[in-house]
Amino acid sequence: MIEAKINSKGGILLGYNVVVDGPAERLIRVVTHIHQDHLTGLSYNLKRSLYIIATPTTLDMLEILGYKIPKEKRLPLKYKKSVTVDKETLTLLKARHIAGSAQVLIEGKEFRVGYTGDFKMPGTTPMKNLDVLVIDATYGSPLRDRKWTDWEAVNSLVRIIEDRKSRGPVWIYGFNGKLQEIMVELRARGIKDTFVADSLTIKLMKVASKFYGINVGNLLPLSEFVKDEPAIVFTRSSLFKTFRKRSGTHIKLTGREFRDVVVQLSENVFNVSFSDHATFKEVIEYIMEARPKKVIVDGYRGRDAYLTAKYIQRRLGIEAVVEP
Ligand SMILES: [Zn+2]
Repeated sequence: MIEAKINSKGGILLGYNVVVDGPAERLIRVVTHIHQDHLTGLSYNLKRSLYIIATPTTLDMLEILGYKIPKEKRLPLKYKKSVTVDKETLTLLKARHIAGSAQVLIEGKEFRVGYTGDFKMPGTTPMKNLDVLVIDATYGSPLRDRKWTDWEAVNSLVRIIEDRKSRGPVWIYGFNGKLQEIMVELRARGIKDTFVADSLTIKLMKVASKFYGINVGNLLPLSEFVKDEPAIVFTRSSLFKTFRKRSGTHIKLTGREFRDVVVQLSENVFNVSFSDHATFKEVIEYIMEARPKKVIVDGYRGRDAYLTAKYIQRRLGIEAVVEP
């Protein structure tokens, strides 16, 4: 009997009725969070599935991203609340990643399986007593370990902002979710400067504010920001090329910078190494706490899934495979 599996399109099949973060002909589609690699085939499931389940925050953000979820299919589920469909109980648990991120737990009559979604440690409580744990291992190798904490990364970011803001605007580039988290972090650290953002980032911030319970104040739309006055501008990584020639300092938030917490690329361009994903060490930490009977490492999204699986098998003595 197989109660957990990853299909060739990145759909994580849990129990007999649920598919998570990828397409499959199943009654229920769960979305763990709004990052693109977890939304594949969502349009397919919008047509084929009976329910689309996610946290209220994620469902609201999906609407902003343009997914029209019919009311009768939309099933918001708060953390730790459960729903039972066809003798299988589905529960969403908090994952520290971006606003609204969840882990998925499915309990059937004779099995208990779970999927972490994207996560970081600490701040994500491992699911215990699982028959099968499906785990994300985006940075699944010790070679991709960062030697600094998120805390240090945010502190470095604050230092660059303080140092550079008198010379014009400070531009910060990141992915959806990460930008909103950083806005909250900067306000919490006493940064009072004007925040400017593109319209999508502003809309997502409104939903994220409710999630974090923190109001970052008014955000000036980027379309109205023409004079390059002192301000902190938040926009998506994909727009770096569009704005890099504008005056001021440009900071890219990236999980792919492993050299140092801050790397200066040119006079006014910096990388700050800030990731929303567990390091290899954190992935192992999760598994050691969870002690599942079997681990499936997500090879659809992870880069070094085979290495991760081998390590789990040899060092932890837990059966581990890579799928798909
Ligand atoms: Zn993600």
